[in-house]
Amino acid sequence: MKRFLQEQGIIFPSLRRQSERLEKLTGVKAQFIDCCRDNCIAFTGEYADKAECPYCQQDRFQDPDHKKPWKTALYIPLVPRLRLQYRNAARAEVLTGYRQSLEQSESGTEVRDFFDGKLFRDFHRRELGLFGDPHDVALHLSLDGVQLTNMSNYEVTPVIYINLNLPPQERYKVNNILAGMLIPGPKKPKVLDTFLRPLVDELLQLGNGVSAVDGRNCVEFRLPAWVTMVTGDGPALAEAIGMKRPGNAVRPCRTCMIRAEKGSRIYYVPHSGYDFENPPLRSDVRRWIKLVEEGDSDDHRKETGITRSSILLELQSLHFTRSFPVDIMHLVLQNITPTLFKLWNRTKLAVDKSSHANFQVRRYHLDDEAVETISSALSDARANIPTYLGHAPRRIDNHHKGYKAAEWEAWLTLFGVPLLDQRLDDQCVDNFRILSRIYTIATQHSIALADVGVLDALVVQFVRSYEQIYLYSGESNKDPQRLPVCSVNVHYLLHLPAYIRDCGPARYWWQFPMERFCGVIKPKARSKSRLGTSLANAIVLTERLNHAMFIGYSDDTAAQSLAYPALKGGYTARLAPYQRTRLERICGDVDLQDVRFYKRCRLRDDLTVGSAASKGRADISRSDSRICYTGENNEMRFGAVHFFIQVVSTYEQVQQLAWISQLEDIDIDREKRVATFGREGSRTWVGVASIISLIGILKHENVNIIVTDVDLFK
Ligand SMILES: [Zn+2]
Ligand SMILES: [Zn+2]
Repeated sequence: MKRFLQEQGIIFPSLRRQSERLEKLTGVKAQFIDCCRDNCIAFTGEYADKAECPYCQQDRFQDPDHKKPWKTALYIPLVPRLRLQYRNAARAEVLTGYRQSLEQSESGTEVRDFFDGKLFRDFHRRELGLFGDPHDVALHLSLDGVQLTNMSNYEVTPVIYINLNLPPQERYKVNNILAGMLIPGPKKPKVLDTFLRPLVDELLQLGNGVSAVDGRNCVEFRLPAWVTMVTGDGPALAEAIGMKRPGNAVRPCRTCMIRAEKGSRIYYVPHSGYDFENPPLRSDVRRWIKLVEEGDSDDHRKETGITRSSILLELQSLHFTRSFPVDIMHLVLQNITPTLFKLWNRTKLAVDKSSHANFQVRRYHLDDEAVETISSALSDARANIPTYLGHAPRRIDNHHKGYKAAEWEAWLTLFGVPLLDQRLDDQCVDNFRILSRIYTIATQHSIALADVGVLDALVVQFVRSYEQIYLYSGESNKDPQRLPVCSVNVHYLLHLPAYIRDCGPARYWWQFPMERFCGVIKPKARSKSRLGTSLANAIVLTERLNHAMFIGYSDDTAAQSLAYPALKGGYTARLAPYQRTRLERICGDVDLQDVRFYKRCRLRDDLTVGSAASKGRADISRSDSRICYTGENNEMRFGAVHFFIQVVSTYEQVQQLAWISQLEDIDIDREKRVATFGREGSRTWVGVASIISLIGILKHENVNIIVTDVDLFK
């Protein structure tokens, strides 16, 4: 980046000067919006001229003469950044090309992205008549309350945009995420709408279109941009839509009218009497909100779960409530999956503690020995799970409270099912297996419509068996002490297939990009005494740096597309005679002079396969050389790579091959969704192009379990 900027004649004397100079070049400006010291409101809209907070009566200014506020929220206008991006020819090509190519290659049998969803087709295109021009930008808005430090309760609320015009492999990269706002901490904002005011105002302006220049032909055009989808954590989003928080609401679901039951203090959502076939979907929500607002009656609020009209309602491109799918990361990974584990280790329900008066041994209790065995298997597998498949697994008994979403994902999709098999009651494992399948199908890059149909059945099956096991637990009457297992999250799972039909695969609206964004900004909060301010400055500087690459009208910033697979890490070696003989069976006569040796193979942007040759002798790092690949008859096979070669065959064809040990005695149990192998066996050559992904190994009581991100059980 620095070199690039220097080529443009930009030299930096200091960080501050650098940021100022970048501001001039990129047009990325920061606005600081006065807000209440306790985060009740931002001084916008009807409060713009107030000198004190209407809620807590604290002064707005610490220096009224110079109008110096106590506290500000950061707002970064979007228009200059979109304009700058369009002025870059290469970027303009990407921004206009992706959606078009997607629409032109439509097969009608799968959902590949947001633009294949019904929401975009039926609502944005047909009903509203938007997105007629390839320039038009679709944005996904995401907001989340995040803890800034582990030490103090300091929560900030970032608001980010994801530009859906970029292809998925680009749009979630941190440097392509557009920071919109930073609402300071330490407390949550009380009236979120007042903070969102400048953002909504700018989006209204963008909805009408602003003038911009297309760098490819330097012609001016009207550039509209619309937010089509909003996601966030449950409480933040309920607040943004103007609904009661789940737990306080009789109608806690934003998609349907299910009625909650009150537990000792809060509301839960059991499905007794719920019509799974024809759920009581909410309709006409915009009208309902209006009625609530006009009627101003508490009964109305209670019956609808809607508390007030939200500022987001001003954006016509948002469908209430189909534009607000429930994020699968919070839903499944941070909620249902940990809840299940807590039920098994008896820390979820008071009635499951052995000291409780009504304690009874339940079939879903996991005994201490089982928890110990499972945890050891996880920690022993650290070196055998490639980094590509995620974090090195940690013991679930000691660490589950600190598990990150990605660790729960690995537990749900890779480790949990095979490790629980035969340790936990069969019906409970079955239920967990269904959840694992739901998650795996829902988060594919592209989902066949037939698979969405499978999901329809799976979610109902999951919720029914979940309540059977954990709510009723054998008895026909539900036990009020067990009501806490029925959180609204379990209920939301029922709407997952509809969200996918509407908004595309769940990975295109989950909250992982927000997590990644926070992971990048958190370390930038340097000044502990002025956490909010130092963070705001860092975010602005990052936005400027991210946009510096679009300066100028040339298209030489276009990313070079690499050809994969690509062999890396060349070294000198010789083939043994039997390796050569086998090679000649594939390639014909081979001149040994032409054989080049490599240690690694880059399969895709995010996946590099290593080999025994790439691992140092005393290397204890995590294995990345075990693979799954397709055999001659398209069957799934597994192996461990020793090294890679590139060779020119008799017919002048360049061949890339891997010398591997095959894993033998493979057993794939499709019903139980467990795959195992017996031993490492004979050696052979396989074409690099047949490699699909990396695998990891879990050793559990002398059984070698294969784990991978490829669905082996189809
Ligand atoms: Zn206040
Ligand atoms: Zn519902």
